[in-house]
Amino acid sequence: MSVVYTTRLEEPEKKYVGAGASQKGHRTGNILIDAGKTFYESALLVFPKYGLRQIDALLLSHNHCDAANGLDDLRGWTLGGFVQEYIDVYCDQATFHSVRTMFPFLVDISKATGGGDLTDQGFKWHVIDPIEPFQIEAGGIQVQALQVEHGFYSSGLPYYCLGFRIGEFSYISDTSAVPERTKTLLHGTKVLVLDALRDKPHPSHFSINQALGFVKSLHPPPLQTYLTGFSHDVNHYELEKRLVKDTSINITPCFDGQKVELDYC
Ligand SMILES: [Zn+2]
Repeated sequence: MSVVYTTRLEEPEKKYVGAGASQKGHRTGNILIDAGKTFYESALLVFPKYGLRQIDALLLSHNHCDAANGLDDLRGWTLGGFVQEYIDVYCDQATFHSVRTMFPFLVDISKATGGGDLTDQGFKWHVIDPIEPFQIEAGGIQVQALQVEHGFYSSGLPYYCLGFRIGEFSYISDTSAVPERTKTLLHGTKVLVLDALRDKPHPSHFSINQALGFVKSLHPPPLQTYLTGFSHDVNHYELEKRLVKDTSINITPCFDGQKVELDYC
C-alpha cells in the first residue's frame, strides 16, 4: 500500500490522504480522507504528481470546515463523467446530517437551484456505523472507523470525530482523547498518523506531548508515527530534531505531499 499524505505547516487545515494497495494479490483502490476547504489546490498539486485520478472512496472524518468544505470542489470530479461517474462517500450519521445542511444540493438534487450540472449520481452517500468495520464498494477494501473525542459541545458532551484504519495503517487527524475501545482497535497498527497541534494544550486537539504520551501507551507501539495538524507556531525542522532525540519510539512530523510506502498492509 502506498499513502500520499499532504498537510501544510502554513495551512494546517489542508489535508488528505490517498491510499492505494497495489501489491499483487491485494485489493486496490484510491481512498481519499477528507476534502477540506483547500482541497482543490492540494488536489491540483498532489494528484498529478502521484498519478492519482480515480477516487474509489471518500472517507469523511467529521463536519468541520477543514474536513468537509471542499466537497463542492470535489463535485467537479464527476461533472460530465470526465474523471468518473460518481464518488462513494462514507461518513457517520452526524457528519451526513451536517453535509445535508451545508450542501443540500450534494445530497438531494431536488435542492439544486442554479443548475450546476448536477447529476443524481455525483456522490453516493454511505452512512456508516462508527463502531463496526465496513467495506468500500470499489475494491472491497475493509476500513475500520476509529471514533475519537475532538473537543466538547457547549453542553459539555464530547464531540466525536472519526479516524480510520486500513490494514496496518491508522489515521487520526483530529483528537483530544482516544477512548479505550478505540485504543483496542488500534492494536497492531504499524504506521500511525496522529494529531499534534502544538506544545500548549488545546481543548480539541492533542498537544505534541499528549501525542507522544499516547503513542508510548500503545503496546506494541507503531513502527512509525507521523504527527500532523500543526498550528503555525510549530517549526517543522525544530520539531523533527526534538523528536529524533526520543529513541523509545519512531516519530516524526509529516509534510505536505509526503508519500509513504507500506509493505505490510
Ligand atoms: Zn475538526
